[in-house]
Amino acid sequence: MIVARDVHKWYASNQFHVLRGVSLTVCKGEVVVIMGPSGSGKSTFIRTFNALEEYQRGKIVVDGIELSHDVRNVDTIRREVGMVFQQFNLFPHLTVLQNVTLAPTWVRRWKKAQAEVTAMQLLEKVGILEQAKKYPGQLSGGQQQRVAIARALAMQPKIMLFDEPTSALDPEMVREVLDTMRSLAQEGMTMVCVTHEVGFAREVADRVVLMADGLLVEDATPDVFFNNPQHERSQQFLSQIL
Ligand code: ATP
Ligand code: MG
Repeated sequence: MIVARDVHKWYASNQFHVLRGVSLTVCKGEVVVIMGPSGSGKSTFIRTFNALEEYQRGKIVVDGIELSHDVRNVDTIRREVGMVFQQFNLFPHLTVLQNVTLAPTWVRRWKKAQAEVTAMQLLEKVGILEQAKKYPGQLSGGQQQRVAIARALAMQPKIMLFDEPTSALDPEMVREVLDTMRSLAQEGMTMVCVTHEVGFAREVADRVVLMADGLLVEDATPDVFFNNPQHERSQQFLSQIL
């Protein structure tokens, strides 16, 4: 579903070599959690999967489509790969319902009524149906993040990317977002999640990978990753977060 091979990226602004030959395969229905210290390139790496970031060397194939600089491919990829960010990124001037129906009506050209029916089903699924008429600013952080998840799902993506979706939340709201992600995983969604939520990684991930200094240094089952990591860099990282 996602195959990344020897991906290298240099940031144009300062020629910083941020990805130094990263390879990762994510199969259909798999949940992969990416952990690693701040600045190791986690966000940069997952943003290459929906063409939010370019890369200069290597190869990335997402759902059979090779990512290149071909704009048509970028559009297709963005439709197939949903993304949820740390800061929600909802449109503040649109209601919850409008946030969720915007992309399907503009990009997928769905009729408004059809998009709204689907949106209401998704809002129910993430547990915030009763908030549909409110604006993002009237919701808690956890509710806003669940709107963001519903909004991404409205495009019927084949893959979902999560970049620290709970890091900006108050502790009591983390759980509702993780529960939403967990049920998505149980439904068979292919997911790549940057998160330091150890409980989620242990219970939900098929594999946990550690990224450090622009490289993937460990790629293991949660059991091996947390109990018996093979690499010194992983042991060092885990000693800081466990
Ligand atoms: P965090 O855990 O803090 O989110 P991360 O692992 O997601 O970190 P990235 O955001 O991918 O790390 O950044 C990796 C490195 O690339 C960092 O050293 C960062 O300073 C650098 N970087 C990020 N964006 C740019 C940019 N636009 N131009 C130059 N360097 C950048
Ligand atoms: Mg990041």
